Formats: sequence, structure tokens, C-alpha cells
Amino acid sequence: MKNFAYSRAENADAAIQFVARNANTKFLGGGTNLVDLMRENIEQPDALVDVTHLSNQISELADGGVRIGAAVKNTAVANHQLIRERFPVLSQAILFGASGQIRNMATVGGNLLQRTRCYYFYDDAAHCNKRKPASGCDAIGGFNRIHAILGASDACIATHPSDMCVALAALDAKIFVEGVEGKREINFNDFHRLPGHTPDIETELQAGELITAIEIPKNDFAVNSLYRKVRDRASYAFALVSAAAALEVENNAIKNVSIALGGVAHKPWRAFEAESFLKGKAATEENFRQAAAAELKNAKGFEYNSFKIELAKRTILSVLSELTENRGAK
Ligand code: SF4
Repeated sequence: MKNFAYSRAENADAAIQFVARNANTKFLGGGTNLVDLMRENIEQPDALVDVTHLSNQISELADGGVRIGAAVKNTAVANHQLIRERFPVLSQAILFGASGQIRNMATVGGNLLQRTRCYYFYDDAAHCNKRKPASGCDAIGGFNRIHAILGASDACIATHPSDMCVALAALDAKIFVEGVEGKREINFNDFHRLPGHTPDIETELQAGELITAIEIPKNDFAVNSLYRKVRDRASYAFALVSAAAALEVENNAIKNVSIALGGVAHKPWRAFEAESFLKGKAATEENFRQAAAAELKNAKGFEYNSFKIELAKRTILSVLSELTENRGAK
């Protein structure tokens, strides 16, 4: 690993100013895989600014939503009473991710910025447009079992690895960022990007912007929500497919539904097609099947991952079916 300078920021403003003054400097937040990438010489910053101790509060918003500081540890989020009661899907998604030790160190801000686990991205002998733009993509004709079936491009078929982010996509979270140009907020579903021709650009964050918090807006139907993760083994494995969903049924018709998928795309994939199909319809298995088919109609598999298309449909069906049985339960 290349030598680098390290400093611990006193506050968000100091961190932002430091990064603005020093080229090739990165924020260090728990839960990114930045240090792993530095060990492999894939990331080579000259300096790191430690922000793991900043903005570590969870607070209730006046309207019933929740604000979570970017430096709050994943364990604290998963175990917080407000999250468990109002947004159980978020607590479940975090508990399905990684080990207890990692959750104790990972932060919300860091988790948002995890990078793909595509094998070729970590192998500097491989062609990878994300690591080295315009160099090619060895995953497309290679071993692509863990890769994307939705929203991929000819340049990159990687998937986003986070579980937490799938739940935040379903919950319509907002991300708060600060930079030298000021503060702004970004809708969660606009934050991560599809690969297009620039898979090296993964989020809407501008250079030097720091994530300071996320907010989950009030949502009365998320009390009936669920996260399901399908993976090769029960622990220490990333999702082949996952689904986060919340469902409200009134007078036998679906009043509200929110669905996001993980393990299928370059970003957490909000299932807008399925949601739109289901609104106002009866909560039946047949309708869930048709909604899943609508969402996956443009899915494209590669040599080793076509099984994910049917797996994603079945995961949507199973989560919505369970939420229908549980509805009204907290
Ligand atoms: Fe690189 Fe993306 Fe291709 Fe993987 S899928 S090798 S990350 S360009």
C-alpha cells in the first residue's frame, strides 16, 4: 500500500475545507471498503480525513420521520427503537449485512459508498472500465454469476453490494451532503447511478462533498415491511437477490406498496413498474406474480446469472405474500 497522510477532522466544515485544499484526499468513514481497495492499490489517495466520529445522532423529526447522522454505526441504527418500530425493513436489512463486528464499525455514510464486489474490479490484471475507464469489461464474457440483470450497460454489469441501501431505497430516504459550495439534499433513488458509459462515476456526490445525514420521511405503512436476502450461504455472503418491501392493504385493495431490489443492478433498484401495477389491485398471489413479471420484463441475463431473473420474481412474490399475511402486525 502506498504511504498516505491521516488526519481526524474536528467537525464537518474542517473536513470539507481540508479535502478542498488537498488534491487526491478522501474521507474515511466506517463501512466503505476504501481501505481494502488501498491495500490492493486500486485506490491510492495521498491523504485520508477521518470522519467516523462526526454527526452520530439518531433523532425523531417533528413529522414522525427519523434523521440519522452519517457517522451513526450500523448496529446503532438496526437496534434503535424508532427504527425497529417504524421502519423494521431497515433494521432487518442491516442485520442481514456482514457480521456483528463489521456492523459495529460500519457507518451509515460509509455504507452508502461501498463499492461493487465484482471480482474483476479487484484484479488489476483484468480489464475493468470502472477501475480504468475505456479498458473493457472482463465480467461480460467472464464469470458473471453475481452480476446485474437490470440497468446494466455494455461498459459494466456490476451490482451494488449494500443491504442497507435497498431498504433506504424502498423507504424514499433523503441524503444530506455538504461541500464548499454549500449544503444540498439528494433523493435516495437519485443518489446511486446506473453505469452507462461512465461506470467509474457511481453516485451524484460531487468532488469534496461529505455525506452528513440521511432522513427517512414519515411513512405509516412501513410498519408492515420486510427484507429478504437470497444468498449462497447464511452468513458472510452478499445478496444474489434481495427485496425490501412495505405494504398497506385497505378494503382488500393495495393502498400503498413500496419495493426495492438488491443484487440485481449497479444501484439499489426501486421496482416502480411493480408498484404501479399493484396500486389499487387486490393483494393476491396472481397480482404479485404479474407485478414481478412487469418489473423484470426488461431484465437481461448473462452466461452465469440468468437464474437471477426468476429468482428476483420469486423473491418479490414471497415478500409481498408474507406482508399480506402479516398486514397490520408490527
Ligand atoms: Fe469492471 Fe464493471 Fe466490468 Fe466488473 S462489471 S469488470 S466492475 S466494468
